[in-house]
Amino acid sequence: MFKKILIANRGEIALRIQRACRELGIRAVIVYSEADRDAKYVKLADEAVCIGPAASAQSYLSMPAIIAAAEVTDAEAIHPGYGFLSENADFAERVQQSGFVFIGPTPEAIRVMGDKVAAKQAMIKSGVPTVPGAEGALPDDPKEIIRQARAIGYPVIIKAAGGGGGRGMRVVHTEAALVHAVQTTRAEAGAAFGNPAVYMEKFLENPRHIEIQVLADTHRNAVWLGERDCSMQRRHQKIIEEAPAPGIPRRVIERIGERCVAACKKIGYRGAGTFEFLYENGEFYFIEMNTRVQVEHPVTELVTGIDIVQMQILVAAGEKLPFTQRQIELNGHAIECRVNAEDPYKFTPSPGRITMWHPPGGPGVRVDSHAYTNYFVPPNYDSMIGKIITHGDNRDQALARMRTALLETVVEGIQTNIPLHRELMVDAKFVEGGTSIHYLEGWMAQRKR
Ligand code: ADP
Repeated sequence: MFKKILIANRGEIALRIQRACRELGIRAVIVYSEADRDAKYVKLADEAVCIGPAASAQSYLSMPAIIAAAEVTDAEAIHPGYGFLSENADFAERVQQSGFVFIGPTPEAIRVMGDKVAAKQAMIKSGVPTVPGAEGALPDDPKEIIRQARAIGYPVIIKAAGGGGGRGMRVVHTEAALVHAVQTTRAEAGAAFGNPAVYMEKFLENPRHIEIQVLADTHRNAVWLGERDCSMQRRHQKIIEEAPAPGIPRRVIERIGERCVAACKKIGYRGAGTFEFLYENGEFYFIEMNTRVQVEHPVTELVTGIDIVQMQILVAAGEKLPFTQRQIELNGHAIECRVNAEDPYKFTPSPGRITMWHPPGGPGVRVDSHAYTNYFVPPNYDSMIGKIITHGDNRDQALARMRTALLETVVEGIQTNIPLHRELMVDAKFVEGGTSIHYLEGWMAQRKR
């Protein structure tokens, strides 16, 4: 096992990884930008190295700065967390070439899955169902684009092959709008992701977002840890997640989970990963694979009792997964609310000093957050300041615990989306379960202030 790991991230996930290291008896090195200098988890770390100014490009995205920090601290492995460099195949490669272990899949696997066109083709080959549509990148020829859209049937969605974070997508309802939409998405994709390739698929009108968590080691073992329902989204960004997905028969989920495990074995995947699907009328359609730990991993941890971050570290160290598929049991239900520093109505970011932070507690309540009273939320990064996760014997209990937890939570000095979560936890349709990916935006459009 490693003696020392460098955590190439910030915020709640840096703290989460630090906790996993502590439990495993591994020393954790935190890297931080000038904007994160005073964060408590930086002070708590075994070692901390400032890697640059607030701007991510010069700190959390700077490969030379991070690798140099690993060199000076004698770390053996680098955990990339999520976001930043976590799905950057070049980074994974440079980490390895510099003599460190990258805690994640191989650079090749990251590269294939990072190109959504290549990922889709790999899934088709591995027998995982995908969204109907063109299997390759779109050509330049407008006639060919029109022909493909007719074959798929409108509405279609144009997506950037290198897209991520809910960006680089455009829905097209009519042929008249098609070619222009392809050109615009292509130009945006080139500017935002450095890859102008776009592809087209059927736009599913009312799907749910269901994803399968997998873990694989380097000894040809792979398992799936149940599913998560992440349909509560705003602008393709998840805000509430839960496990298991309400109302989907177990055998239907099991069939897709087994397909994902088979695909992991086929592509020689290692580490933690997530297969994301849209689910409509009883069918699953693969949309993308995330080759890293996800924000919503705690709901799976609470229902399986498995520490996903520790498993990532174990597998990266070459150890075998300590359980088989048959030993994985799902217990009860878990829900996660992402707490964002933002206006709960207009969603504009609300960085600044937290003058009062009182997190909730009690049975079945978990809070993953680096925030505290007097913490300054820097304006430079993502607005998420933490996650409240509750677990119960069933969904009703998890929901009841979440309502209590949200009621107890006090955050002053900045605005957060907690009022939004409080409203949603008593919304009849959400409480019923099984809402589609469009539900939240529809609900917000009707919402009275
Ligand atoms: P990203 O990498 O940016 O997260 P995804 O491919 O995972 O992109 O898609 C994000 C979200 O966009 C999905 O959860 C869903 O809400 C929507 N979406 C993507 N593809 C489709 C599709 N074919 N039909 C309907 N909605 C889609």
